[in-house]
Amino acid sequence: MKKWKQHQGVLQLVGLIIIVPLVAWGFGFRQTVKLWRACNARQEMVSRLAESRSGVGNELPGSVSGKQILNNGVLLGQLERPIRDNGVKMVKYTPYLTREEGELQVHTGELVLSGERERAFALVRPPGHHAMRVTHGNRGFCNVNMEAVMIENLRRRFGPLRVAIVDTDCHHGDGTQDIYWNDPDTLFISMHQDGRTLYPGTGFLPECGGPGALGRTVNIPLPPGTGDEGYLYVTKNVVLPLLEAFKPDLVINSAGQDNHYTDPLTNMQLSAHGYAAMNALLNPHIAVLEGGYSIRGALPYVNLGICLALAGLPFEHVHEPDHDAKALKQRPQVTEYISRLCDDVLNQYHNPPSRPSEGHRDGEWWRRERNIYYDTDGLSEHQNEGIRLCPDCPGLTCIETSSDRVDKSLCLLLPRNACPHCRDLAHRLVETTGKKSGRYAHVLCIGGQ
Ligand SMILES: [Zn+2]
Ligand SMILES: [Zn+2]
Repeated sequence: MKKWKQHQGVLQLVGLIIIVPLVAWGFGFRQTVKLWRACNARQEMVSRLAESRSGVGNELPGSVSGKQILNNGVLLGQLERPIRDNGVKMVKYTPYLTREEGELQVHTGELVLSGERERAFALVRPPGHHAMRVTHGNRGFCNVNMEAVMIENLRRRFGPLRVAIVDTDCHHGDGTQDIYWNDPDTLFISMHQDGRTLYPGTGFLPECGGPGALGRTVNIPLPPGTGDEGYLYVTKNVVLPLLEAFKPDLVINSAGQDNHYTDPLTNMQLSAHGYAAMNALLNPHIAVLEGGYSIRGALPYVNLGICLALAGLPFEHVHEPDHDAKALKQRPQVTEYISRLCDDVLNQYHNPPSRPSEGHRDGEWWRRERNIYYDTDGLSEHQNEGIRLCPDCPGLTCIETSSDRVDKSLCLLLPRNACPHCRDLAHRLVETTGKKSGRYAHVLCIGGQ
């Protein structure tokens, strides 16, 4: 007990923030308790889903308003409630976010960037890494991409930041990839179970960024059965060298814990000790909880391991009662596969392709067509995306979007450092194509700051 008290003091000293999930924040208390009492995979899933839907509709207060998020070039929220503006239908933005979660996550980032804390861990839910730029509903339990909310607020407050996001959730972080697809100042690395074997079925090597940020998206699709050995190999041999090359101002770990060997939804074999060791190597400024569905078998051990690693404390004594090192030993075929995969990933980062893998060139635009399924809400969205191939900035992005819920709408996204030409073009497109053509139910132009 005395030892633990000492540890507590050290934890506070090094600035570790443990934000206990929603317990102190009223609204989530019952869901949290229910969640931790769940005793099988089915119940966990149901509780998890209920929690992810619970705060919908609460407006973010203060400095984190939906409008500010939009102005930073990240489109988050539902396209609904059309209002009339000079005879033209415009979008009223509806934040799709819990107040507590947004505040906590942004506050976590601010504490680190302001120097008040050295590192921080935002233990918040629901997760967000499946939520994309355009959001018609809930996908993979995610409503809004909380990390993007945090990052864009930090950029607004602390100026231009080079940010590296290392997503270690077992599922591909397709929402975060989508948001930063064409942002050269954000390196997104996702190591996940191969999409041929797990939701959302994406996250392959050729997906390496839009035309203005080729190579800035790095996918590492790992084979089922990857254990501590594989995760640590990837971290040492790929992730750390890439971080060294990119030189970010801020490193964020999307710390999903569904790669644990007890997780009911996935097929990996990571232990709490392995996770802590990986986190110690990454040494992120901020860790953010994402998925993790083994509520009693994994989360208490993994979260403790992450806390200790962030605090620079030994984590070897974290003991998982049912851990069987022999049974969980990674198969040699998996080890060989990962070794070859790492070589390919490194090679691609240093020699990125000259054009994106998906889509085609159409004059000064790079176009691609996408179908996005919202598994939680049972919605289908269709997108036509065009990114301007601009020599002076990452390029204006135009997204035509429609879903079972929303008629065809137009979203224009200006990058943070948009050039005058892209700005003028966006303005003209809003006035002509957008407002006068009558083709769109909603028109929205955001970003450019
Ligand atoms: Zn996950
Ligand atoms: Zn431009």
